[in-house]
Amino acid sequence: EDDEILPEKDAEYDTHLSERLDAEQNRTKSIQEMRKLLPVFQYREELLQAIKDNQILIVVGETGSGKTTQLPQYLVEEGYTNSGKLQIAVTQPRRVAATSVAARVAEEMDVCIGKEVGYSIRFEDKTSEKTVLKYMTDGMLLREILTDPELKRYSCIMIDEAHERTLATDILLGLLKDILVHRKDLKLLISSATMNATKFSRFFGGCPIFNVPGRRYPVDIHYTLQPEANYLHAAISTIFQIHTSQELPGDVLVFLTGQEEIESARDKIEEIANKLGSGIPQMIIAPIYANLPQEQQDQIFVQTPPNCRKIVLATNIAETSLTIDGIKFVIDPGYVKENSFVPATGMSQLLTVPCSRASVDQRAGRAGRVGPGKCYRLFTKWSYYNELEMMPKPEIVRTNLANTVLLLLSLGISDLIKFPMLDKPSIASLTNSLEDLYLMGALNSKGKITRLGRIMCEFPCEPQFAKVLHSAATHEQCKGTLEECTDIVAMLHETASLFVGRSKDASSHIVGEVDSDHLLYLQIYQEWKNSNYSRAWCQDHKVQYKTLCRVRNIRNQLWKCAEQMGLVVMNETYRRKQVDFTQEINTRISKSFISGFPMNIAQLGTTGYRTTGKKSSSGLNVHIHPSSVLIEQTRENAKKPSKYVLYQRLMLTSKEFMRDCLPIYTESWLIEMVPQIFKKPNNQN
Ligand code: ADP
Ligand code: MG
Repeated sequence: EDDEILPEKDAEYDTHLSERLDAEQNRTKSIQEMRKLLPVFQYREELLQAIKDNQILIVVGETGSGKTTQLPQYLVEEGYTNSGKLQIAVTQPRRVAATSVAARVAEEMDVCIGKEVGYSIRFEDKTSEKTVLKYMTDGMLLREILTDPELKRYSCIMIDEAHERTLATDILLGLLKDILVHRKDLKLLISSATMNATKFSRFFGGCPIFNVPGRRYPVDIHYTLQPEANYLHAAISTIFQIHTSQELPGDVLVFLTGQEEIESARDKIEEIANKLGSGIPQMIIAPIYANLPQEQQDQIFVQTPPNCRKIVLATNIAETSLTIDGIKFVIDPGYVKENSFVPATGMSQLLTVPCSRASVDQRAGRAGRVGPGKCYRLFTKWSYYNELEMMPKPEIVRTNLANTVLLLLSLGISDLIKFPMLDKPSIASLTNSLEDLYLMGALNSKGKITRLGRIMCEFPCEPQFAKVLHSAATHEQCKGTLEECTDIVAMLHETASLFVGRSKDASSHIVGEVDSDHLLYLQIYQEWKNSNYSRAWCQDHKVQYKTLCRVRNIRNQLWKCAEQMGLVVMNETYRRKQVDFTQEINTRISKSFISGFPMNIAQLGTTGYRTTGKKSSSGLNVHIHPSSVLIEQTRENAKKPSKYVLYQRLMLTSKEFMRDCLPIYTESWLIEMVPQIFKKPNNQN
């Protein structure tokens, strides 16, 4: 009996398998066909010829024409990787773009992500020996130059989204200019949306520009008649106007400035949609911003079902780096959040500022990819013509350059004035960075990089955090706290998506007697660790499990680096000698953070907290963010607010807020840790 049944079963299994294979082939076939429909495909041969003939080529084309996903594949197909011996790197200004595009290309090439196609972003390396095509952030390629100054493992570098002019992209272009002289076999592609191309060409001695003509349907532009007092409110009512009056299909793309704004918009839209109930067609709300967990990012690319409208709420990541098919309506409040140097404080802060004309034009273009579209600008026509800047300002002229200067110095580039740059930062800005680095102990009085400065560059995190860790292991006042500080530093990298929802309910379950956000994070991490990294613990405490897993990974990488530099041994030698350490441990942790962030300190005065920093006379009024445990502490225990507060970030919303705060109870800690800044108390206004 068995003998009869078995072959039948096998036959059945086989047909299933072959059906599956057919379906699989169809899927890949249709992807291959879609690739051929993209505008760059028509120019495939011409492009490859131009790349062959020139060491440097600039490629300009409309967003969505296939530059990012197709060009690197052409290079692979053409044999530029020398049968897997060399790699092709494609840089992106944003992490989300790097991971999302890599996933798409892996799918197109029908390989698993991390094998032939991979990505590398800070703290996450999804590549293997098999990888030939690597999407990465511009910052990661910059770091690779530290260990591989000639970029020997690459045959081609594509600097993508060059028009964004991030600091890392600008510095990369400067460094590549020199590398290309020594590596005649290295190809450089610079790809950009339709702005700035001639500037790049001039920078590289008049190298050729390849134009990929794109298709673009007309987009109707609508302006508001009066300036909008509340653009978020205006954006939401525009969404509903479109949704209730415009034909389907036709998805909507709304440009907002950041996570908090996007999440609060989502709540409002859901609330209104619930009230309207079945009176309106269904809506799918798809947010996209840098800290959105990866599993939720893919939602923006899922095809909208019939009789349904997708509402994409995006930061300016959707301006050029990600192309979402099916968008017919764009809503543009005209703002962007960008790093801006604030002379009053000597620091860079994230500020919400009006976009440039070039940006709002790009945004409008997103409505005209599938057919004629409409763009609703939530500002006046007058403002467009009279108030908006023509072009966005490159990051290099509006940010604190200390970390970049340190990186260049560690690469042996000491004449910063002569370093080739598309736009030069001011001498004042460079001097300011050198001064910061000196105060941090990264440079000596002659402007030479110190051993500490080199260590600060080695760590895969901001030099300020590296300094915290270095002090935690070696400084007389701090040592013995390397483990705790590593946990906290890792946590500080992921605070944006730590709690479930936006509430901080979690902290109230967890916190016993912590008096700073830093210690709260430490406690969360350690309790989770004690639960054996369990998922259940996270659910009980309303903390995101995936976020803590990322923290654990970051923590391990920092720890490994500390180990390699001998910091772990030093820390443990000291710690072993201590009988009772618990008493002073919190003070030591605080001091470690003071040593890394001496510029991020606010002092309590008659009008509340004011920033100090090195130019202590011109402070900025700042407030403790409502989410901080410092707020609860002062409220519940009627404790007096501490004289000083160290903050990790300043955030401008309705007021200037300090995020992630650590109280400093006595001035003596500051004087002990950073006498260069806090020597004279009477200087402090
Ligand atoms: P460009 O770099 O010129 O702006 P891209 O190469 O990014 O163009 O995009 C080409 C096409 O690939 C677009 O039609 C876009 O919709 C599609 N695409 C890109 N990323 C994804 C993704 N993650 N999922 C689905 N389609 C994608
Ligand atoms: Mg692109």
